[in-house]
Amino acid sequence: MYRGKPGRRPSAYLISKLRRHEALQRRCGPGTTAYSNALEQLRAGSMSTIAPPECAYIVSISYSGLGNRILAAASAFLYAVLTDRVLLVDPSNDMDDLFCEPFPGTTWLLPPGFPVANYTGFGVDTAESYGNMVRNKVVVESGGVADAASTAGRRLPLPAFAYVHLHNDATVEDNYFFCDGDQRLLRRVQWLAVRTDSYIVPGLFLVQAFQGELDRMFPERDAVFHHLGRYLFHPSNHVWGLVTRYYDAYLATAQQRVGIQVRVFGAQPNSPELLEQITSCTQKQKLLPELRLATGEPTPPPPPVPASRARSKAVLVTSLKSWYYEKLKSMYWEHAAATGEAVSVHQPSHEEYQRSGARSHEHKAWAEMYLLSLTDVLVTTGVSTFGYVAQGLAGVRPWVLYKSTNSSAVPDPPCGWDVSMEPCFHKPPSYDCRLKQWTADISKDVPYIQHCHDLTWGLKLV
Ligand code: GDP
Repeated sequence: MYRGKPGRRPSAYLISKLRRHEALQRRCGPGTTAYSNALEQLRAGSMSTIAPPECAYIVSISYSGLGNRILAAASAFLYAVLTDRVLLVDPSNDMDDLFCEPFPGTTWLLPPGFPVANYTGFGVDTAESYGNMVRNKVVVESGGVADAASTAGRRLPLPAFAYVHLHNDATVEDNYFFCDGDQRLLRRVQWLAVRTDSYIVPGLFLVQAFQGELDRMFPERDAVFHHLGRYLFHPSNHVWGLVTRYYDAYLATAQQRVGIQVRVFGAQPNSPELLEQITSCTQKQKLLPELRLATGEPTPPPPPVPASRARSKAVLVTSLKSWYYEKLKSMYWEHAAATGEAVSVHQPSHEEYQRSGARSHEHKAWAEMYLLSLTDVLVTTGVSTFGYVAQGLAGVRPWVLYKSTNSSAVPDPPCGWDVSMEPCFHKPPSYDCRLKQWTADISKDVPYIQHCHDLTWGLKLV
């Protein structure tokens, strides 16, 4: 009810897949006999030579900023649905405190006592990573199409656990994860733990074996995160209180809500150029009214103000710093809007620095992402997973502020309307599994995957 527009409709097939997946989570999830048996296999370090196990699991490691963690969990969930695995989310960094449980009658949180020691600290050198198993010939088939080696690969015993390293330093072998042959092998590994802070979903669309299901689940490919996000991520009671109290107090009565996300990194100084970019973008695109500035000529009479103050805009700024908000607020206080509209500017918090893992900081970050997603139009600083989550939940294609190549100049044009609301996959694989060769452009044959405007080597669904 807080959303102006209802959002895209999920396909009937997606809905039926979700119901089936919920049943799987209940049948195999924590607290069941199947779960205890699977843990036993893991503790015993069993090897499997047989067909895929009845209950298999993927643990999504939670690290980095909240936007990263949300995109990682959404990606792991889609992979879980595609491969009939139970999704278990590592509860680190407050992942156990920010969301409602998405699956009725069970938990998606990995219970304490997971027998793989220190799995949250695994990295590119970890011996159990799929990439290192390939390199060390623990698995035979890799990076390619089914061939004689794959027949051998199918018979080879496999460990009960593999770590999938898809962090941004992932090697070529780690990225074989996106190859059909390797997916066939991974099906037989009962436990996977995946480390990524990116939205790897466009990579899943490159796996041929997944394409049929993905087409049926998502006939509109530009709305994948929109559906996954709205299904999975519901603010917990405390965060929902932050969202609704703020919305009701500051945003509810405006005719239109404009969200402006200003991502500031570290000790970056306040940037008058970025402020100018924001005002020039919002005014050129008619998202916010121009100002009636004093010119020395006689002031024209103000446009008649509707008695009901019918035309008003509320601007929601989110940022770690308050400077941009202060400037925008003063602008619309000290000058009249050329259209006569009343423009109010609001910012819920300014935390100054990123403090991922600090509970009240995480609460505010999630509340602000969610509030942004309740706005009608969005302006974002590109390459930010914080903004990606907001735009996906909103179902809104954002206006992206182009990164300036020269920090003292305002880019021209200052912003562009993004090609879709999907998040960008920042570090896609550059190895073509089908051709078994490197490629500069893995997406060239896939019409619904394009390069991102905000990060040219990134990929996104459109
Ligand atoms: P990204 O780094 O821009 O991709 O976004 P992330 O959400 O992954 O990480 C940035 C983190 O910094 C957030 O999760 C917050 O902890 C903090 N942060 C950044 N911008 C804001 C903001 O506008 N408001 C709040 N409350 N926190 C922010």
